[in-house]
Amino acid sequence: MEQNSSISNLVRKEFIRLHGANEKILMVRSPGRINLIGEHTDYNDGFVLPSAIDRAVYFAVAPAAGSESSITSLDFGESHRFDSRNPVKSDKPWANYLIGIVEVLTKAGHRVNGFNCVYAGDIPIGSGLSSSAAVEAGLAFALNKTLDLGIERVELARLAQKSENEFVGVRCGIMDQFANLLSRQESVLLLDCRSLEYEYIPFAREDLRFVLCDTGVKHSLAASEYNVRRSECEAGVAAIRNHGANVKSLREVTREELELCRDEMDSVVYKRCSYVLEENARVKGARNCLLQDDYSGLGTLMYASHEGLKSKYEVTCPELDLLVDATAQIDGVLGARMMGGGFGGCTLNLVQTGAVKEFKRAIGETYLRKIGRVPPMYECRLMPGTNRMNNHEE
Ligand code: ADP
Ligand code: MG
Repeated sequence: MEQNSSISNLVRKEFIRLHGANEKILMVRSPGRINLIGEHTDYNDGFVLPSAIDRAVYFAVAPAAGSESSITSLDFGESHRFDSRNPVKSDKPWANYLIGIVEVLTKAGHRVNGFNCVYAGDIPIGSGLSSSAAVEAGLAFALNKTLDLGIERVELARLAQKSENEFVGVRCGIMDQFANLLSRQESVLLLDCRSLEYEYIPFAREDLRFVLCDTGVKHSLAASEYNVRRSECEAGVAAIRNHGANVKSLREVTREELELCRDEMDSVVYKRCSYVLEENARVKGARNCLLQDDYSGLGTLMYASHEGLKSKYEVTCPELDLLVDATAQIDGVLGARMMGGGFGGCTLNLVQTGAVKEFKRAIGETYLRKIGRVPPMYECRLMPGTNRMNNHEE
């Protein structure tokens, strides 16, 4: 399995330095994720097409005596202690992603004893690769194993989402935690965010690569605008319901139903709803493309997704648009779109393996010329979800 053994070895060493050698140290790899298509559809009960990747957060976890727990983030260079029987918010934001997991497990009726945890990773933070879900779901998985709680993966994903929603205070959908825990090697996960039914679609192509280009723009507008978009979608559903359609979410709305109430909703709300309906259709289209080995069809849908996010959902930014537009001049690029909440973060590009080098050079040059710096670019592989690490080096 592809893993960053230098980080996991460091995590294990630091754990032993801080807490002593313990035969019960559990090492867990918890990956970031990409999403091929289906953006802002998860909270509309719609469809997404994510997969875990070869960037991850690595944990060393072991039970401690009593109820006191210790967590150490090597990336933030800080530690925090708290009582697992009384998980309260910390003034260290990074710690709340872990303490929240203890709280949701406790609220779900599990007895969480004290534990020690050291962790670090190589998922870029705040770039849309879901480092937050990797932290939450990674600890949830580790505690489930170490404390023998007997929770299934789907339930762990739900609990991790609940923690981010209620303890950290971010209204994220279920996609990130689900992809983190349920992904499989060399496949993408088609997830129905309403029923949580899912299907694996193989994606094992040596001739194609996913490349992420990071705008370097931190999504300062993302949190507030995310909530605005959610409200706009809810306003759309309310208008359609007022018209007599018995629908709970945009996922259930047909184009005809939307058109029938077009005049009864704000024109902005109409645009948002149109995007969500079209994006859900694109996810289903992408599934068909993958099943038919039609990767240029998939790429075309990725470009259409970006166009919708730009002009109808209005969550892109000039840097994201520049990175996507620049691909038109580069040979061997099948598709490109912004990924994640928007207003910054990364673009996802589907590139022929032989064209990756020239892709990076050309994107780097354009971004340098227009924005003043070369963006970090990451090639990524599709990987399985969170798991314990076997045969870990000493
Ligand atoms: P992302 O798009 O990467 O999920 P978020 O803003 O949702 O960005 O979450 C980022 C937060 O998650 C960080 O500010 C930090 O609190 C936590 N986090 C992510 N990765 C790490 C890490 N390697 N170590 C400690 N905390 C982390
Ligand atoms: Mg996040």
